[in-house]
Amino acid sequence: MKILFSKTALSTLLLLIIITFLPIRIFSQELSGKYTIVLHGGAGYISPDISEKIKLAYFKSLSDALELGKIILEEGGTSLDAVEQVVRYFEDDTLFNAGRGAVFTAEGRNELDASIMNGKDLSSDAVTGVKIIKNPISLARLVMEKTPHILFAGKGADYLGLKMEVETVDPSYFKVERRYQQWKMRMKKTEKSDGETVGCVAIDQFGNIAAATSTGGLTGKWAGRVGDSPLISAGTYANNKTCGVSGTGTGELFIKHTVAFHISALMEYKDYSLQKAAEEVINSIMPVGSGGIIAVDKEGNYVFVFNTPSMVRGVATSDGIFEVKIWN
Ligand code: ASP
Repeated sequence: MKILFSKTALSTLLLLIIITFLPIRIFSQELSGKYTIVLHGGAGYISPDISEKIKLAYFKSLSDALELGKIILEEGGTSLDAVEQVVRYFEDDTLFNAGRGAVFTAEGRNELDASIMNGKDLSSDAVTGVKIIKNPISLARLVMEKTPHILFAGKGADYLGLKMEVETVDPSYFKVERRYQQWKMRMKKTEKSDGETVGCVAIDQFGNIAAATSTGGLTGKWAGRVGDSPLISAGTYANNKTCGVSGTGTGELFIKHTVAFHISALMEYKDYSLQKAAEEVINSIMPVGSGGIIAVDKEGNYVFVFNTPSMVRGVATSDGIFEVKIWN
């Protein structure tokens, strides 16, 4: 009886030790203290002569979004949460061509695209042509986690959003005056610049990479046109074995050259570094002026490669780097 008691007491004690200390051990083993996050607000042409006020507005938005993602990663949050929250921030900011502030179709409407990918297990999801979803990136995240499918389009995607009870809005919510004027000029063919699509890529302290992209597409796009941003492998890709990528530029060319996956494939199959792979695709394969990418590899290295005059972008790392830029 005495032996039985002490055996029971011993196993209880062991159990207590396991319950108390194992999570701490696992936690401390998994949290590396290292993370990297990069973001973009579109590649294209932003004149270096823009007013100081607009410049500051870009820098403030970029810094605030970056800070938001950085804090999530710093506190041990996942890269998936970080990229979703950063992109959501941009979707709510009228400065960018995503969510509120999206560009107009040829018919003067807003059709929104977004995609998200988890490099840990390659799970991914996207929505295209949504018209009433306030934050398309969060619908993409939700359908990634709750449905067996990968891409939802148009009315079906909006309907899914209603069913999943994400926040919906009247289509007029997305329309902002600046974009409307841009659209009018584009329709008259006097406006050249595109861009301001948004994206974010991060590696968290668990070594997991995630990528997300959101856009209103190209000004004056035909109704129903699908660009690269909602297409996994073209505009967005993440794989813990290689890297995460978010692209911005002429979607048709990103689709044709499977840009995001292409970069990952060069790393996986040809053992290229992230820099070399990204440069090969953006500077050798893609035509000049077609766009750019942001990317992070499994070691936390990051790159910004673009063949346009500007790309709105930023980076924060656990080594203390915190930078936002528009031009070279
Ligand atoms: N890639 C986006 C599209 O073609 C546009 C952009 O990045 O500015 O829809």
